[in-house]
Formats: sequence, structure tokens, C-alpha cells
Amino acid sequence: MNEVTLSINSQEVKIREGATILEAAKSIGIEIPHLCYREDLPPTSACRLCVVEVEGARNLVASCSYPAANNMVVRTNTERVTKARRLVLELLLSDHPYDCMTCERSGACDLEKYAYELGVPTTRFQGEQHAYPLDETHPFFVRDYNKCILCERCVTACNEVQFAEAINLAHRGFDTKVSAPFDRSLLDSTCISCGQCVAVCPTGALTEKTRRFQGREWELKKVLTTCPFCGVGCNIELNIKNNRIVRVTSPPNSPVNQGRLCVKGKFGFEYVHSPERLTKPLIRVGKKGEGKFREASWEEALDLVASNLANYTENETAVISSAKCTNEDNYVIQKLARAVLGTNNVDHCARLCHAPTVAGLVQSFGSGAMTNSIGEVANASCILAIGTNTTAAHPVIALEIKKAVRKGAKLIVANPREIELVSDASLWLQHKPGSDVALLMGMMRVIVDEGLLDSSFIAERCENFDDFNKSLNKFNMDFVEQITGVPREKLAEAARIYATNRPSTILYAMGITQHSHGTDNVIATANLAMLTGNMGKPSTGVNPLRGQNNVQGACDLGALPNVYPGYQAVSNPAIQEKFENAWECSLSPSPGLTLTEMLDAAHQKQIKAIYLVGENPALSEPWALHAQESLRRLEFLVVQDIFLSETAQLADVVLPATSFAEKDGTFTNTERRVQRVRKAIEPIGDSRPDWWITCQIAQRMQSRGFDFTHPSQIMDEIASLTPAYGGISYERLESGGLQWPCPTMDHPGTSVLHVGIFTRGKGHFIPLEYKPPMELPDKNYPLVLTTERSLYHFHTGTMTRRVNGLNTLKGKELVEINPQDASTLGIADGDMIKVASRRGEVLATAKVTNVSPVGVVAMDFHFAESPTNVLTSPALDPVSKIPELKVCAVRISPANGKK
Ligand code: SF4
Ligand code: SF4
Ligand code: SF4
Repeated sequence: MNEVTLSINSQEVKIREGATILEAAKSIGIEIPHLCYREDLPPTSACRLCVVEVEGARNLVASCSYPAANNMVVRTNTERVTKARRLVLELLLSDHPYDCMTCERSGACDLEKYAYELGVPTTRFQGEQHAYPLDETHPFFVRDYNKCILCERCVTACNEVQFAEAINLAHRGFDTKVSAPFDRSLLDSTCISCGQCVAVCPTGALTEKTRRFQGREWELKKVLTTCPFCGVGCNIELNIKNNRIVRVTSPPNSPVNQGRLCVKGKFGFEYVHSPERLTKPLIRVGKKGEGKFREASWEEALDLVASNLANYTENETAVISSAKCTNEDNYVIQKLARAVLGTNNVDHCARLCHAPTVAGLVQSFGSGAMTNSIGEVANASCILAIGTNTTAAHPVIALEIKKAVRKGAKLIVANPREIELVSDASLWLQHKPGSDVALLMGMMRVIVDEGLLDSSFIAERCENFDDFNKSLNKFNMDFVEQITGVPREKLAEAARIYATNRPSTILYAMGITQHSHGTDNVIATANLAMLTGNMGKPSTGVNPLRGQNNVQGACDLGALPNVYPGYQAVSNPAIQEKFENAWECSLSPSPGLTLTEMLDAAHQKQIKAIYLVGENPALSEPWALHAQESLRRLEFLVVQDIFLSETAQLADVVLPATSFAEKDGTFTNTERRVQRVRKAIEPIGDSRPDWWITCQIAQRMQSRGFDFTHPSQIMDEIASLTPAYGGISYERLESGGLQWPCPTMDHPGTSVLHVGIFTRGKGHFIPLEYKPPMELPDKNYPLVLTTERSLYHFHTGTMTRRVNGLNTLKGKELVEINPQDASTLGIADGDMIKVASRRGEVLATAKVTNVSPVGVVAMDFHFAESPTNVLTSPALDPVSKIPELKVCAVRISPANGKK
């Protein structure tokens, strides 16, 4: 890297070519006052406070954008410079309220700071002043135009960090202000409510509603932790006053998200303090399912749970763990199932999202996790985003995609629906739901036929290519075009773009996995990456985007029926012996039941007791009415949760757990990064951390090995038994997260998997054939229903539905239906409609939109009032046992024309 040498205030400084004077000054400890500049934003030179003298230049220059040059002589502290800065401040103060005593920003306001430091107590300019009313229209933040200094930080953050393009400067001269297009409300703009504008504002012009009059800046205690929502694992700081979260911030240097958040991470914490939180153990008093309970002491409730669970054999009990809980919680929960209850009947909601990822990628590569890291996406030359509505489900990863596109990368979106990412795509493959194998095999056929494959990578690093190649024969373009509905020219273009723009990366989510052939879909992505040598290098790979905050960790820590922590098979005698010795017990070598199988077994009264932690199968399972009936048929159901969820209402005993904000632990994000969760507030009411509750049950069942007093001790046990976590300890995590595999205490962690050699040795090509979805539309049910996730809600809504602002942004289920279908059915936008499948029916509101293609409707599954999974199909992928949540047949009719 070339360097330049210059002098600043008579000190010599060397800095990389292209750096600004401000950066050069900072590198030798000279602070130049600035308002519009932020290290993490492109400079705008709007405020002129950072002016400096450059020898030879007639005027003062803005140091935030003026490049440092060889032999330049700069002075940052002359009288002329100070006078100019004071003038800038005086002009700003001439139209600024002097209400620092009640301003939320006081103590952290840059204007206040520089007025003090430069000695500008008042202004000579007494002209016209604005008197704007407060803009409180946004549910989460307030805009006070009177305090706006037009620095444009918010505009730059919105447009160039979040790529939302919701705000800009409007009007001219004295009336210039920041505004959404046409001065309308932000709610009518492309605003995604990420709060980035609030995060970067240097004054009190933008303030979170939750922190107004809740504490001065210096009174807020900041606790660094990890977002409890999606699998991106953004780093957040809970700002605490009087045992309450009053605001969430994020450090700009956070490794995963660099200070960026989505609406849920930034604003979705109100649920923690909801009056509906469970605060006492509950014991059922009425009939099952009536939801009538009495409060009980912990002693009574735990004794009841332990004594009842002891009454059932290992084949009669099952444990459902939680992707919302920490690694430590999951570890002790699966340990309880195996070591205390004697069963491998333990599973969690990964069965409903990424079980095919584990099953498929393990066969192809030897490891069922994201091969690369989030930060690498922005450096890819091609991104194939298939089956992922990334802007809604993994918003911060979507920012990396958008960054890559702006740097020139080609984006191929493969999705039946015109999702938001399509507007950034070079190519959109609008294939029919459930035709992914045909689509991907078609692309591979083109790559092979046109000689675009990486033959040396295949020869050196892979096996079974010839068998796979034969299976491509069936995928001629006539067949592929007919199955997918994608014109052959488009498909060929996609194949060429993917194969020739290296590095190419594949991102996928539940659009790939939630099918009756989900494992085949995953394998197809693996074949494609290997075929072009896009494996084992930065910005390549196959990258499953995990749904919930800790679904990766719950899988890693053995909340699965066939493996112990670290994917060590329960059927392997040597592994069984290792865990028997460590846990001092005898263990079963037979894999247990999956989540869906457990509920079927409960329906048949073979499973009689379930200990369920932090999940809500009454709403999240496909064919929800069947799942609810299965839960009702149990003799004994214990639910451990933070709210009385729809599932908890069916329980015999409900145990109140703490939220993420009230406990210590770790989450593992989608890129395999183990990160700390830190206790920020005391438990609400009498709630207790999940790991503590589980240990109490185990101890009451006379089991040893559950006498942990802090989750760090649990992590030490995890590290001793789980090779990929062998080098992880709380002490190391204090300085940041670690990506597994991290086998030893001096190992730095692994950002890219399969470098040089695949985890299983050779990458394994697997032949595939096309299989249609199990339930296709017919005369009675002529439409395909596919399920989605909303940006504004999470899972079954137990947390986000208890955040008022999120309900304002999206408060009910909307069935997205194409205008042509709506017109045929006599349905208008906003009509109440009935959606019926072979399994049940729900009422919801129609949203008529071209986002859904003709013949396909889409629903979320966050709203208990319109429980989408009443409709969905329980058809299972035979390998991973995931249900086909992405395709089922429905019919739609107006619901009495009600609005
Ligand atoms: S909340 Fe986000 S999207 Fe909305 S205006 Fe602010 S930065 Fe832009
Ligand atoms: S609202 Fe804040 S960040 Fe935006 S222009 Fe005004 S002062 Fe700057
Ligand atoms: S992207 Fe995911 S992890 Fe990040 S703030 Fe949003 S919900 Fe939280």
C-alpha cells in the first residue's frame, strides 16, 4: 500500500494514500471537531466544522473529505481555523433551541460538546427561527426538526448504509429539512424502521420514544449482548436504567453487523417488560386446554415436574428444546433427556427449518453449517440467493448483498415471488414453488454442456462426479423449462453468470429446506458450488441462513435425536462410552424421535409426557390442529417459557423462564460464531434462567452432574466434550465471538470451512432426480400456499406481538394474492377472506399484489388470530423429516364480504 507523508501541526505523519487529512490527524492523536463526519459513513462535507489550513490553499478546506498528500503542511488549530469553526457553531445555534436541560441527547450531543469546547455560549445572529411541531408519527422515534443541524448523517445512513432511500433533504435555503418523499410520513415511504438515522444523529433531532425522559445519557448502563431474534446474531447494547431497557444501541465496530440493526433488534425489546410476562410457576386447575392455572412456589412446581417425569419410561417421554435459548440451556436440556430421562427423544424447531441443511451438507461436505462468513458476501462477484427473502428474514445480511451489488456483483434471485431483492438483481428466476432441484440441475446441465465447470477442482477435491453427471442427463432444457416455468435462455444466462463471475456464493433459507424433498434441494446447491470450484475460498460456498437466533447453537449442542453435542452420533459405541464416562450414567444408542414424530406418537398416546422449553408447536407445527390435539392427549405436559403461549395454555405445569436480557450465556449465529449473551437486568418476577430450571429438575430426579452455578461452567463442560467448541471459554469470548471449529484454546476460530480439504475428505457429488411437491393444486384447492416471514415479527409472535410499535407496522396476517386471482375470486384489497386447505381454514385479510404470481398466495405465520399452520401440510422429507411448509394447496373465498 502506498503511503504519503505530510506535516500536521508540525508533526510528521505517514498515512495510506487516499486517506483524508482528518484521518491522518486522528492517526497521530489530533482530534479535529466535526459534526457531519462519522468514520462509518461516506463524508458529505456538509457542516464545515472540520476546516483546517493547508499551506498554499487559498481557502480553509474540509478535512473530512480533503485527501492528505505528500509534503502537505496542515494546521488544525490556528486562530483563523478557530474563528471559522466558531462562526459555523454560531450559525447553527442561531436556529437551535437552548433546551439542553431537557434534551435527551444532552451529555452525548456533538453540538453541545463543540459549543462548550470552542467556547460558543450564544450566538450573535438573532434572525428568523423555525418552530416546527414534533413529528411523532413513527411508532418508534421522534423527529424534532428544531434540533436538526442538517448534517445529513441520517440521510447518508439511510441511503448508503441501509440502502432504504427513505429520506433526503427537501426544500431549499432556510426551509431545507430532512424529509420522506413529498414531505409525507415515513410510514408511507420505503422506510424499514431500522433506526440507523437515530443511531447516527449527533444532536437531539432524532430520539427513540422509549428513552424519552427515562434517563440522561450518563445514567444509562450499556450491556453488550446478542440480538434475540434472527440468526444473523447482531451485537447490541442494552441501555439500562432502573432495571429497565430504555434503548438499544449497537457498537459501530461490532464484527457481525458493524452497528447496523433491523427494526426488531433496534426497537423490538418492549416484550421483556410486558405485563404478560410469566412471573410465577403455574399448575393447571381446570380441564386440559382451558388455560386455568393457580400460582405455585418453585419448590412445589419443580417437585411435581420431577416426580411426574419419573413415572414414565424412556419411550414414553420426550423433550423439546429451543432455538431461542442459549447454548448452555440447550446443553443441559439435552443432557437431562439423555442422562436423566434415558431417552434420545430430544429435538427442537430446526426440524421445521434447517434439518435438511444438516442432513444434506453433511453428506456433501461433512459439515452441515454455513461454509463462509457474513462479511464475505459483500466481496462476492456473484450471489445466487435462492429460497431466501433476505430483506425480511435476515435484514442485516441483505445489506451485505446490496453492498456487493453496488460494488458491481451480479445478483441472481431465484424465488417464485417478486421479493424486494429482485429490484437489485441482474436476473430473477421466477420458478414454480417446489421446482428447485430442476432449476439447479438445469443450471448445472448448462455449466457442464458449455464447459464452464472447474475440472481440476472436481478431479482434486471431489468424488462421484461421473454418477452425478449421468443424473444430469434427465434434465434437458425442455424438461427443466416445463417443470420450473423459467425460460431456458434465462436459466442458461443464470448458469453462465454463476459459473464465470468468481467468487460466487450461494445463500439460501427456508425456501430451499421446507419441502418434502428439502434435503435434495440442499444437495443440489452443494453440487452446484463444487461443480464450479466455489468452495473453500473467501466469498464462495453454500450458506444456509439460519432462522432463529440460536438454531445453529441448539443443533451444535445436541438438541437433536441422533447426535450428542458436536454432531457426535448416539449410535457410535465409542462416542456413547465417552459421554457415559463424562456424565456417569448409561446412555441409549438408539436415535430418538424427531419433533414431528414425537407429536404423532403423542397423538397415538405412545409418548405420554413432554418437557417443552421455549417453543410454540401449537402454532408453528404444520397441520396445527393435529399438533394441538397431540399436545392435549399427553398425560403430562410441562412448558417452560416467558409467556403463556398457545402451547403453554395446554400445559399441566408452566415454569416461568427469564428472557435473554436477564441471563448469561452464549448464542451461535448462522456463520458459526459463538457470542456472549450478558445479563443486563434482574429476572422479571420470580422467573429463572432455563439452565437453572432444568438443572433443578435433574437434581430432584437424583442425577449428578447438574450442580452448575454459572453458565460459564456449562460452557467448560461443553468444550471438554465437543471438539468444535474445544477452544471456547467465557474468558476468550470477552474479547469477541469465536467461529467454530475452534478446537483448542489457542485456535483463532474458522471463518471459511473446507479450505484445502472438505471436512469429510472429498466433496461428494450426489446424483439427484426431480420430485414434485406432495400436495399440488387441483379443482378443489386450486391455489398454492407458500409461507413467509415478516420483517416486523418473529416466529409465532410470542415476543414481537407484545411490542406495540411492531404491531403498528404490521398488526395482522395479510394473504398476498395476485390481482388476477383476486379478480377471478371477486376479492378486493383489504377484504376479509377465508383460506381453506384439506386440514382446516383461517380468516385473514387479502393484500392484492403482483409480488405473488398467479396461482400462488403467501402468508406469514406470526399471528395467532390467523394461524397459518392450520393450513400447512405435514408431508415430510423422508431424510430430514422436515414438513413441506412451503407448498400446500388451498382455496380462497370472500368471508361474508367483511372488511
Ligand atoms: S429508520 Fe432506517 S429506513 Fe427509516 S428513515 Fe431512518 S435510516 Fe431510513
Ligand atoms: S436529523 Fe440529525 S442526523 Fe439528520 S440531518 Fe438533522 S441533525 Fe443531522
Ligand atoms: S438482523 Fe437479525 S440479529 Fe440483526 S438486529 Fe435484526 S433480528 Fe436482530
